[in-house]
Amino acid sequence: MPASHARFSPARRSVLRRTGAAGLSLLIPACSPPEQAKTPPASTPDVAEGALRLDLRQWRRNGAEEFTLERVRFERKWSGRRKNLAGGLDWGDYRLSVYDSVSGALLFRQGFDTNLEPAARSGTTRISVRFPAPQRPVRAEIEQRREEGAVHVVSSVTIDPNADSVERAPGEIATRVHLIFAGGEPHAKVDLAILGDGYLESEYPKFVSDAARAAGYLFSVDPFTKRKLDFNVYAVFAPSASSGVTDAYLGLNKDTVFRCAYYTGGSERSLADGNNHAVREVAAAAPYDFVLILANARRYGGSSYFGGPAVVAIDSAAARYLVVHEFAHAIGGLADEYYVPAAGGPVFPGTGEPWHPNVTISPHHAKWRDPLSEAGPRPTRWNKAEYETYFADYVRRYNGLRESGAEEAAVEKFLERERGRQAALLAKNGRGRRVGLFEGANGYAKGVFRSEVDCIMFSLQTDYFCAACSAAIERMIDEHCR
Ligand SMILES: [Zn+2]
Repeated sequence: MPASHARFSPARRSVLRRTGAAGLSLLIPACSPPEQAKTPPASTPDVAEGALRLDLRQWRRNGAEEFTLERVRFERKWSGRRKNLAGGLDWGDYRLSVYDSVSGALLFRQGFDTNLEPAARSGTTRISVRFPAPQRPVRAEIEQRREEGAVHVVSSVTIDPNADSVERAPGEIATRVHLIFAGGEPHAKVDLAILGDGYLESEYPKFVSDAARAAGYLFSVDPFTKRKLDFNVYAVFAPSASSGVTDAYLGLNKDTVFRCAYYTGGSERSLADGNNHAVREVAAAAPYDFVLILANARRYGGSSYFGGPAVVAIDSAAARYLVVHEFAHAIGGLADEYYVPAAGGPVFPGTGEPWHPNVTISPHHAKWRDPLSEAGPRPTRWNKAEYETYFADYVRRYNGLRESGAEEAAVEKFLERERGRQAALLAKNGRGRRVGLFEGANGYAKGVFRSEVDCIMFSLQTDYFCAACSAAIERMIDEHCR
């Protein structure tokens, strides 16, 4: 999140960046149904051991997208799914499709997001994508969703897995891997690599302790609690030259392995890594499907996007919330459900259904079902006006604290108090866990709906995800396990 707005949850980088403290205008990617492959999907006989990682640079120039290949890296482990390689969950602003270069058969497909603000006309960032190492040359295409029902190829490259240009050397950064939790064989589990930024070599014990604490936060909330046996969790350590991370708010400039810094995307609480190459080199020391980076820092902040990595300030008093909320963005493809209300809005401007599984613009889209609405889907009443009045004031008071340079302890106390206020306000609806169509989500007060009145993606609570978020997280866990 971080969002900029509000919440004060640091947030999904791309969403956050799209939102401005003053007037959010999120551009929501359009959704498209899975395309049919021209030829039957190939399965495991076509892939070898290990994975190929494409280190890419994303360019956007006057709205035109391009991905350029910086290098092809061989990784010894492919820990992702082995079944249904060509037909995974169709989420993400972008997707990677890998075809056999001779037969044209679709071998692998995977959606992803990047941290480039979708609304930006120009910009650049680095991103990596991975797929099971093929036996023969393949054509890798990066596609972008542009409007509902349509994806467009923006870049294509042919890759020979046996070429000398494929880098096969051992990892370039010395790492230490500590197993935190083992659920089973990596290819049949979700593999989470927890990395640390801003830890000195001498702080290794603190890193291992922080990683175990972060895993404890994650598995304290369903569906992670009930699906814990479907995870492997590794703490992968690479030391930094400085302790702590760069934070212009505090005047700190640190030399750290992943270059984590606050203020990415313009928000003081948006905390993100700045060295994708190092993140990938270190994570590859363990089997990994998702990455969580712990910044060795206290000031409230974090960020995430679908596919990750998720980044959190692990010494914040709100670290439990940051870990659960940010990692949920990365694994579940979840949009934020909160919004900063403004006069009469903001109103969702588009017509395309978002691909995110926890928000919808159409009561008939059936991402989830309202069990009590026999007369057909219709918006569920909640104390929207009252909550919006409160929330706008909450944002104003948070910003006031930051502008006055308040001590972090005072900010933490404020967040904890407001967490209780939010819960009490939402409890006034008396609806408990009722599933319905609650208007207000994904940065918009109007025109977008969420499935329950409250959720970890909506308020600062850490007790439960709504029905739609829980289902989405479980779908991704299932994809890795079955
Ligand atoms: Zn939710």
